[in-house]
Amino acid sequence: MQTAAGFQEFLDAVSGPVGETTLVITGAGVSLASGIPTFRGTDPGAVWANDVTEKGTHAFFKKEPHESWLWYLKRFERARGARPNEAHLALADWERWQQQQGREFLLVTQNVDTLHEQAGSRALVKVHGSLDQARCTRRGCAHGPPRGTLPMAAVDFGPLHADPSPESVPRCPLCRSKLRPHVLWFDELYTEHETYQFDLVRQRAKRSGLVVFIGTSFSVGITALATELGLKHGAQVFSIDPAGHQPAPRVQVVAERAEELLPRIVASLPR
Ligand SMILES: [Zn+2]
Repeated sequence: MQTAAGFQEFLDAVSGPVGETTLVITGAGVSLASGIPTFRGTDPGAVWANDVTEKGTHAFFKKEPHESWLWYLKRFERARGARPNEAHLALADWERWQQQQGREFLLVTQNVDTLHEQAGSRALVKVHGSLDQARCTRRGCAHGPPRGTLPMAAVDFGPLHADPSPESVPRCPLCRSKLRPHVLWFDELYTEHETYQFDLVRQRAKRSGLVVFIGTSFSVGITALATELGLKHGAQVFSIDPAGHQPAPRVQVVAERAEELLPRIVASLPR
């Protein structure tokens, strides 16, 4: 069943009563226009597509921690120079509008880049972690799970780059255990780390009147869960996807680019 929606239907939902409680979930598609390649897409930069399910795992880190780090650092490097695009900026505007109107808004991103923060989003959950953070592998360490991280900028990668080996992997300044990237790997659970705020995402999916997916591939658990919970609790669910893919029945699909659609939506909100 194809459920296409247009600009006006989406605007009515955003500005109307259903939008009083809004949950937005973004994926790699929103950062593509900023030059960050998707994980699984068919875009030319999707260099990770071949090996991501092998290398983006805890199993790979345990086996070859140095190779795991080097693979991630390459990815971090690509994201470092990226700047927020019109979609990121419009999402931050949308959040401010919701606040001014006394309405609720939460942005959940599957992206580990920092473009939403750079654009000014504040009510933000990074459900797959963040590439500007590392963390200790020892549970209970202040820099490790359940809640701890440390800034990537504080980590010394000199020894790793000079002589990559399991021994030259960066170590926790507190307990000398190995550090790891603060990202959710494919063989890990959302409950792995409290900063992923999985419970908050579930709660908001249940009580939001409007659930909007932007640039998500619907291939990971959080999208299916939020769709199911949203629809079950009576939310209007939209997906903004230029390819017009129908992810599930009753999801209204707006086949437009987010960086073109969202600024027009935000500009049309009643002030
Ligand atoms: Zn530690």
